[in-house]
Amino acid sequence: MYEHDVLIVGGGLAGLRAAIEVTTRGADVAVISKVHPVRSHSNAAQGGINAPLTDRGDDWEGHAYDTIKGSDFLADQDAVEVMSREAGEAVLELERMGVIFSRGDDGKLGTRRFGGQKKARTFFVGAITGSAILQVLYEQSLKLGLNVYEEWFVTKLIVEEGVCRGVIAIDLKTGAMHTIKAKAVIMAAGGAGRVFEPSTNALICTGDGLALAYQAGVALMDMEMIQYHPTTLARTGILLSEAARGEGAYLLNSDGERFMEKVAPDYKELASRDVVSRAEQTEIDEGRGVDGSVLLDLRHLGRDYIEQKLGYLQEVSVEFLGIDMAEQPVPVQPGMHYIMGGIKTTVDGATEIPGLYAAGECANVSVHGANRLGANSLLDTVVFGRRSAVHALEYIENVESASKTEGDLVSEKTRIQAMLDRPKGERSATVRDDMARGMTKGIGVFRDQASMEHALENLIEVKSRLAGVSIENKGKVFNTDLMFALELEFMVNCAEAVVAGALTRKESRGAHFRTDMTERDDENWLKHTLVYKDDSQENGTRVTTSPVTITQWKPVQRVY
Ligand SMILES: Cc1cc2nc3c(=O)[nH]c(=O)nc-3n(C[C@H](O)[C@H](O)[C@H](O)COP(=O)(O)OP(=O)(O)OC[C@H]3O[C@@H](n4cnc5c(N)ncnc54)[C@H](O)[C@@H]3O)c2cc1C
Repeated sequence: MYEHDVLIVGGGLAGLRAAIEVTTRGADVAVISKVHPVRSHSNAAQGGINAPLTDRGDDWEGHAYDTIKGSDFLADQDAVEVMSREAGEAVLELERMGVIFSRGDDGKLGTRRFGGQKKARTFFVGAITGSAILQVLYEQSLKLGLNVYEEWFVTKLIVEEGVCRGVIAIDLKTGAMHTIKAKAVIMAAGGAGRVFEPSTNALICTGDGLALAYQAGVALMDMEMIQYHPTTLARTGILLSEAARGEGAYLLNSDGERFMEKVAPDYKELASRDVVSRAEQTEIDEGRGVDGSVLLDLRHLGRDYIEQKLGYLQEVSVEFLGIDMAEQPVPVQPGMHYIMGGIKTTVDGATEIPGLYAAGECANVSVHGANRLGANSLLDTVVFGRRSAVHALEYIENVESASKTEGDLVSEKTRIQAMLDRPKGERSATVRDDMARGMTKGIGVFRDQASMEHALENLIEVKSRLAGVSIENKGKVFNTDLMFALELEFMVNCAEAVVAGALTRKESRGAHFRTDMTERDDENWLKHTLVYKDDSQENGTRVTTSPVTITQWKPVQRVY
């Protein structure tokens, strides 16, 4: 029997930061992760983590305002205030734990400037920031003797009488299914990038945490807010970090024009991501692209600078396209990168279900609103990972015990056996690809009523094929065939919420740009969309709205 005070689903930055907090406060905690923790997707983060440090003449209000403006005023300002106030301490704490941040010639922690921000406040470790932080948090958790269920896959949350009391999971190494009981569960299961194709996200980013919470009855908030990153390597979907533009790279069209000068005269290439992606797509759509891309030009930075500061990007460009960035501009295009929407939480990580907390990319606190600023996500993971742990510990003080039952273990075993017993049918990969390409087509950089309705029709067709997805591997040990089929069901839940949110929002705001409703409409839509799973409704969803919290920054027109 497995039982803990706090169980954390996810061994990425949010999960490990939460786990370290719980362990150091003396409670019994375990992390469960479908991959080894250091293979979590946080590992891929390249560019850096934001913090307004006062010794640089920066202040939390400046970071908060840039974040709120970047969010197109959809972020809850009380949540942003918390993140910006706690950012400095969160980053310095990482340094004290052992993260070797890059330093400037003066010996101080170095910064680079990221998009949508007035100041250079992004701290980094070369172009491997996420990996460096993840390794250190993992080392710290080893030192603290953290209990990790490595390569275990959560299939269901246990919710008894409206209270979360654990999870049901498969030990992928043996195929055995178990109940893991807990007084509180923190969901830190990462994003849902692979609901779209192509995407900068790893294949494991399948929205499991969002779907598990959604299935349990929690609202997914602002799911229509999908971030398309301006610089993914043409034809590959691989990210070329914003660090390139932060270090001074230009964007050019086929005429060699720096088109961002006309779109964002002040910030140019460093306008917020939604603005730059739309500008690129406009160049491409109006015939000034180069084979469906625009060009990222770093030549003026010089070979030494490129190799020293952006070595990883140079490597990717040479390996995948055979282009030496010091000699030639590299073709880039907007690509799906991040989901601003997620499990609705308070600033303490609490969801609508007592005992269930959420942090990191699967959560929506909401600090990113309609568009996340680069380097604010790593910050979000550590600030709200820590806070969710603190508050889960306060919550369990009044919880006598974890579940006394085995939850839905028997019915979950029956459900999964029935999946394994299905007759030969479609492969999950085919259905997944059809879903994901339909999502990119319908809910892209630009969208309108017709494209979103097509995405919905595509999704309805995809859903009708789910029961026909067969699992050809009937074995127990590392049955990835089964795992992919389970992930597909999670992804379809996420896609359903994205489409429902998108069809509901009748305006353009941040990443949700409708060509049939091009204006932001604060009078009617300064609101969050909340999507609930509701099988009594025609499309399986119920959508409501809630007000945005404004503290001191009144919405104004967003100009860069
Ligand atoms: C290429 C790339 C570069 C980026 N660069 C930056 C950057 O420079 N700065 C920045 O701020 N942000 C960046 N981001 C975004 C940022 O990296 C992520 O938002 C953040 O790392 C997510 O962390 P997380 O802890 O929420 O989730 P993850 O790191 O994705 O971890 C999720 C965890 O959940 C586990 N899990 C998931 N489902 C299950 C399940 N069913 N059962 C058990 N375990 C499960 C996984 O095994 C994993 O351990 C980047 C994103 C990408 C794609």
